[in-house]
Amino acid sequence: TVSSGDPDVHATNSARLFERAGNVIPGGVNSPVRAFGSVGGTPRFIREASGYTLTDVDGNDYVDLVSSWGPMILGHAHPAVVEAVREAALGGLSFGAPTEGEVALAEEIVARVAPVEKVRLVNSGTEATMSAVRLARGFTGRTKIIKFSGCYHGHVDALLADAGSGLATFGLPTSPGVTGAQAEDTIVVRYNDLDAVAAAFAANPGAIACVITEAAAGNMGAVAPLPGFNEGLRRLTREHGALLIMDEVMTGFRVSASGWYGIDNVAGDLYTFGKVMSGGLPAAAFGGRADIMGHLAPDGPVYQAGTLSGNPVAVAAGLASLRAADAEVYAKLGRNATALGDLMTQALTAEGVEHRVQYAGTLVSVFFTENTVTNYDEAKAAQTWRFPAFFHALLSRGVYPPPSAFEAWFVSAALDDRAFSIIADAMPHAAKAAA
Ligand code: PLP
Repeated sequence: TVSSGDPDVHATNSARLFERAGNVIPGGVNSPVRAFGSVGGTPRFIREASGYTLTDVDGNDYVDLVSSWGPMILGHAHPAVVEAVREAALGGLSFGAPTEGEVALAEEIVARVAPVEKVRLVNSGTEATMSAVRLARGFTGRTKIIKFSGCYHGHVDALLADAGSGLATFGLPTSPGVTGAQAEDTIVVRYNDLDAVAAAFAANPGAIACVITEAAAGNMGAVAPLPGFNEGLRRLTREHGALLIMDEVMTGFRVSASGWYGIDNVAGDLYTFGKVMSGGLPAAAFGGRADIMGHLAPDGPVYQAGTLSGNPVAVAAGLASLRAADAEVYAKLGRNATALGDLMTQALTAEGVEHRVQYAGTLVSVFFTENTVTNYDEAKAAQTWRFPAFFHALLSRGVYPPPSAFEAWFVSAALDDRAFSIIADAMPHAAKAAA
């Protein structure tokens, strides 16, 4: 019941908190895109969430289409996950010693993603990709890496170049603080362009340790690999003695029970996971071929460690969340993604707004352009100036989309008919605002 004229009506408490936060937290947030920098207005401070509903500190409810940037496939505060967390917490919060739960979660991941024979738990997706790249360098004895523009792999120094996600939101090519040497060792090529990858290998003979790619890109918006692209990466890396790192931090256990691997079956040498595998608590993982993983300490020389790695509460949340995500949950995620995309298409078409709704599995994005987006240049060329009005028209009508034109929208299986009727009511207004 908020008018569309002023996006910040009914955000008084959020505004007050944002001001307070700005005094002690840079930009008032602990991750840049949360600041609403590219859409304007007051970031909503969330008090609680349940199912598909986010409730902010002013008492406004929103249908959540961000799902904590991916993990909440079951919706918020799922009873089985909350119970598992409660039970684990009662037994102690951290031991700094091995537990059975870690073994069970590793077994669950290994059972789902065939190319992952061994896996190590870490605390964030950033740690997972950082460790995977170090391992690839340690294993191959090479220094350079290839990444794709618009692919985000966390805020690892070497991986921040042309990185999509928050850097796209704020228009940053890379970050000050990344050394010249780190930038030099990172070769950035266009996504979905195998010729560019082949050229990079040809120009750096025997020097490339790995290619890291999002198994399907979600950080420049949803941009699926073109047919043959991941297969081509597999072939080129093999030909040149480099490793292929499939970053499934966003897609893993969301787009299917075995992630993007379950969709295209292209086997990487190493994988990274996060978000979904820990049910919304801080845990992540990297894994892959047993011979490569064998190079990690304590068996091998490549060092990697973590005081809180395999934390028993995070592991319990992850296990409960993965186990609750049955075939019906994945079917529902698919139906919900399509239903959301259809509503966007209908509303934008009715207003005559040029657009493309794109999917990468169950990741959804809308690009304001008439052409299919296959890489970062094309994503940036879209009419992103339409997005803030589109966003605020939805937000003011009780729908919470990602606050950036370059992020994927994440559905949960908790979205039901009532949620979709709220979205359906709001979408025509959003399309009008974007026109
Ligand atoms: N890799 C991908 C594909 C991601 O989408 C993200 C985060 O969004 C990361 C890595 C980094 O994960 P985290 O934010 O947990 O450090």
